[in-house]
Amino acid sequence: MALYAELHRHLGGAVVPRILWRYFQRNDAQLASRFPNYPDFEQFYTQPRNTLEEYLELHSLVESVQTPQALPYFIYRLIRGAYVFENLAYLELRYTPYLRTDHNLSQNQRLEQMAEIVKVVGLACEVAEYPIITSQILCMHTRLPYEVNQAILHLAAAMPNYVCGVDLAGGDTAYGERMTEFIDLYRQARNLGLKTTGHLYETTAGCYPELLPYLMRIGHGIQIPLHYPELLPQVAQAGQCLEVCPTTYLQTGTLESLDQLRVVFDRCFEAGVDIAICTDNAGLHNVRLPFEYENLLTQNLIDFKELQACQEAAFRHAFAWPYTEPPASLLSRLLTETADEENFVVSSVS
Ligand SMILES: [Zn+2]
Repeated sequence: MALYAELHRHLGGAVVPRILWRYFQRNDAQLASRFPNYPDFEQFYTQPRNTLEEYLELHSLVESVQTPQALPYFIYRLIRGAYVFENLAYLELRYTPYLRTDHNLSQNQRLEQMAEIVKVVGLACEVAEYPIITSQILCMHTRLPYEVNQAILHLAAAMPNYVCGVDLAGGDTAYGERMTEFIDLYRQARNLGLKTTGHLYETTAGCYPELLPYLMRIGHGIQIPLHYPELLPQVAQAGQCLEVCPTTYLQTGTLESLDQLRVVFDRCFEAGVDIAICTDNAGLHNVRLPFEYENLLTQNLIDFKELQACQEAAFRHAFAWPYTEPPASLLSRLLTETADEENFVVSSVS
């Protein structure tokens, strides 16, 4: 039985290198000739980058092939892998729908096409043989104009069957000069009744306390416990959960070693701030969710009890998990019921 919840995974970074490379070989002669050997491609695709900006450039490579026609191909394989190798019971998949539309169309036509993209993604996530409860988070983007980001919010509100929330992505160096605009957009999102998360306090360049009140969860947020621990009581009070994605910080050069996460976990636990451990880009990193857990355990950054607390927090803060408890409690109940039945049989016989 699948057990875990993943709250922070980008569609663009969710494709594991082998699936992407095979897709090139089968469908894209130009990219196939650029990467003729798989090992070289894997090395290129998964190696750490110097900055978050450089790292995000890789997303563009994947976005360019994730067309409406190709999305079902990638998503089917993504869901299959998440079920078989990661034990996911719940998955929130995030992306910017505008960037999956046809680049040859006008802006208005691309805005119209976004609803089709959301539907294609939603339908592709429904895989009968690998059942996972999924929902989408639509990302506004720091490099897109205001009206496109606003249209993304309205689309999210119009398609609740497929979409559970909104995010702001695209690199935090571009936030500064447009912060009032993003606050305005988040205010609109809350007025539309949307659930909100946002990439914030990921790097030292992305620390904007004025945006915090509009977020229900914080995408990363690690700079808060690291450099602004005085904000933790207010984060705890607001019931905001940090979506911590350990491998990302090494891949983007944000942290030098995972050891620095010790302070993040310790200060959050102490302040009563929930943490959901996530992958961000499981394919791009070639690190799936159970390995994120295992890395933290083997490096002694958290213990099993703390891991369990984070796993339960992920279900509690999930925007679209429809039950009050995580799936493990269903198993526990089944075990108790089975034991009760056996006791009943034994006592009736004796
Ligand atoms: Zn992210």
